[in-house]
Formats: sequence, C-alpha cells, structure tokens
Amino acid sequence: MSRPPQPQHPLPGRAAAGPRPDGALPTTPTGAPTGADREPAAPLTEQDGTAGQVRLADHLVPLAAVRHDPGRFTRLLARARAETGHAECLCRTPALKLVIRSRSGRYHLARWPGEGDQHTPECPFHQAAANLSGRGGYTAGALTETTDGTTIRLATPLQLTGTRAAPALTTPARTTSGTARTMSLLGLLHWLWEQAQLNLWHPTWRRSWSTCHTRLTHQAADCTVNGHDLTTRLYVVPPYRPDNADANTTLFTTFTDQLSRIGRHQQRGLILGEIKDITPTKYGSRLTLRHHRGALFASTPLLDKTRRSYRAALSTTTLSTPHATAATSTTAAGSTQPRRIGLFLVERTPNNYLAVADMAAMLTNYRWIPADSSHEVAMADHLITAGRSFTKPLRYDGADAVFPDFVLTDTPAPVYVEVYGVLGRADYDERKRAKQEHYRDAGTAVIEWNVTDPLPEVKLRSAAPRRPPTR
Ligand SMILES: [Zn+2]
Repeated sequence: MSRPPQPQHPLPGRAAAGPRPDGALPTTPTGAPTGADREPAAPLTEQDGTAGQVRLADHLVPLAAVRHDPGRFTRLLARARAETGHAECLCRTPALKLVIRSRSGRYHLARWPGEGDQHTPECPFHQAAANLSGRGGYTAGALTETTDGTTIRLATPLQLTGTRAAPALTTPARTTSGTARTMSLLGLLHWLWEQAQLNLWHPTWRRSWSTCHTRLTHQAADCTVNGHDLTTRLYVVPPYRPDNADANTTLFTTFTDQLSRIGRHQQRGLILGEIKDITPTKYGSRLTLRHHRGALFASTPLLDKTRRSYRAALSTTTLSTPHATAATSTTAAGSTQPRRIGLFLVERTPNNYLAVADMAAMLTNYRWIPADSSHEVAMADHLITAGRSFTKPLRYDGADAVFPDFVLTDTPAPVYVEVYGVLGRADYDERKRAKQEHYRDAGTAVIEWNVTDPLPEVKLRSAAPRRPPTR
C-alpha cells in the first residue's frame, strides 16, 4: 500500500505562466530530435514551453531555448561543466541541480538522479515520486540511474548465442523480498513512458504521436540496455508524413540490417509503436502498426499468452466499444477511441520477416495517457475534458504494488482518483475497503467512481487558478 505523497513545495496552478506545449521539440525528417530552429518562438514562456530558466555558469537562460537548440549554448554549457560541474533548474527555490551531459561532442541537460520529484509537475525534468511509481521495485543491477545515464538489465536477451533457441516469454527474476533483479518489456515500456512524461497531462498541452516519438527517442538516447546502446536497438515508429516516408524507410532499413546473425550471435531489436491491427494468418498473426508500412508476425501461442497477460490492452471488446459517457460525448469526434501501444522484441527470420519473440502491450486514451481498463480510459478522457492536470502512476513490474489510478496535481495537496470497475468480487471489494480506509486514515482527498454510476464531477471549483511559485 503506498503512502500518499506529502507536497514538498506549493503546487503550481493550472494556469501556470507557461508550461511547455508537451513536446514541441523540432524533429528532423527522420523524426530524430534536433536543434534546427535557431530562434525559438517568442515569448518563450508562452509559446515554447517551459516557464523556467536555467543557470549556466553565471548566466540565466530560458530552459526551452537550451532544450530546443543546445548547440547555441555550447560555450556556456562547457563553461558550467568545467566551473561548477552542473547546471541549475530554477523551477523551484532553491534551484535544483541538472546534469550536463556530452554526447558526440554535443551537450544536453538531464535531471539529477533521484531528484526528479522535486521539480514542478510542469518542469520537463519532473519525475513521479517514488511512492507513485513502480520504478523503485528493482535492484540496482536491474535499473541504475547515474549522472552518466541509465543502465537497464532486461529479463530477455537482446543477443542470442550459438544455435540456442529463443527463450519463451520472460518475466523478471526476483530477490527473496520480491525486488526485481531484471526488467520485463512492460517495465521498459513504463520506464520510457514515465521518463518521456507521457503519463502526465496539463490542460494547455497538445500531444500527437510526433510528440510521443520525439520524447521517447530523446529518453532512449541516455540509456543502455543489456550493454547495448538503446538508441540503436530501439526503433520508435516515426510519425508518417508523405515527405518523410523515404527517410523513415531508410531509418527502418538501418535498424533491421543489424538484426542478422553476426558470427555465432543472433541480434534482436525492439520496436515501439501503436498497434493498428492484429489479423490471423495461416501460421499465427500479422500485426500492423500505425504510421508504419511493414508488418510483424507473432506465433499463436505467443499471442495467446500475451493476450492473457495484457487483457485490458488486447481485449477485442476494449477497442470496439467506446464508453457512452459524458466525457466521450463532449470530446472531439473520434478522440475517445482507446489506443494500444506495443513494445516488441523482434528477430529477423531467414526469409526477412520480422518475428515477434516477446511483447508488452499498454492501453492508453486518445492522448496516450496509460490506463489499466476501458473505465480508466473514460476517466482520463473525463479529466482532460474538465481541464485538469494529472498524472497516471505506472506500476512497471510491481504487479502487487498499490497506486491510485490517477493523481490530480492542480490542487494544493494531491487528490487521488479511484475507478472502481469490478462488481461483486469479494477479493476486489476487500482491497477497495482497505484502500478507502488507508486514504481516510492518511487524510488523502479522493474522488471515487463506481463505474455503474455516472462519471463524477471533476471540474476544479476554485474560481482563482493557483499561480506557479514566484521565481
Ligand atoms: Zn525543474
């Protein structure tokens, strides 16, 4: 049972003076982040995102500008690294340290390990508190964040040696206390989503697959998985546009070219994208992804097992029956269709097909906010329609961990949102009672929704929106 977080600082209001437009980083034709626009739109605090500034050596500069085009600040970043060893984020007072990393001769800023929850929810360096994330359920060997980046030990190998057959679906090994020694594909998917802040929402943000792609590739850049650079082993499907189709094809070919047998080693790769369709074939199933031309192939036993593990995401009824709720009726047409995100471990067959060796799936709402059920999709839609700021805790491999379904972050103290979607099951009712008692004892404000009732009122009552802390 998780303890409710204690606010360490005043929480910023929903009308913060310039939260970033959730992922407006420019991209190359292939979708990779770049610093192409020399002049970020002005004023930075409104148009370009981050309200905050960062301190580089003795200079204060807009964080958005440094993130969009670090090349403009090379001299200052180098000086700060040499003189103080770090930069500072001014979203809070006192300022918070930031890592200055150098990759291929280019500098960029990153959150200081273990301090992500101290940044404001609108800050690009914010990370959910440890008690609102499954991130803490790993040994240091499975997940390590240092000032140099993140190293992850995946439960399933990215390289097979000799003629050994690929292992079946793998789950993390655990210590006697239940801490995971390795990370599953779902854990990696949750890590990427949380690092990219795609489990957060603010009413002024806009989010498209292009946003998701930019942020996910950005996060992968500082990560090593099983000794491999994640950037080379992970293909995040780029957003399709007619003018970047050829570049996407080249990028994908580069990715698949490495998935061949080199000597005794069979290389494997990871593909992350939104599942468009799963259709049966003579030998198994064919999976297609949005924005992507090719297909992946999964055996029937693997897909059956995956469907059992990821019922909410892969149930055929989840996607065909959008909720008939107030939220869905007031949202833009078509926007309430849930999405299924897949992370696939793939191997190239001798016939040049891509075979799925393992996969994880995640249900999200139309803005890519993760949800554990179609009811949670409806609630996420409802909160967005109501103009709320919120976060969705992700459990990673902590199957038994207890987290609230959503946490509202635009109130002085966090408010939990619980969706009770199972009726008439004794064990569920028992857990629900224990949760309610815990929240009552802790004095945590909770909005509850029993799904047989209409969706609750969730609009912020305060007439005067809270302002962000003065900087
Ligand atoms: Zn910050």
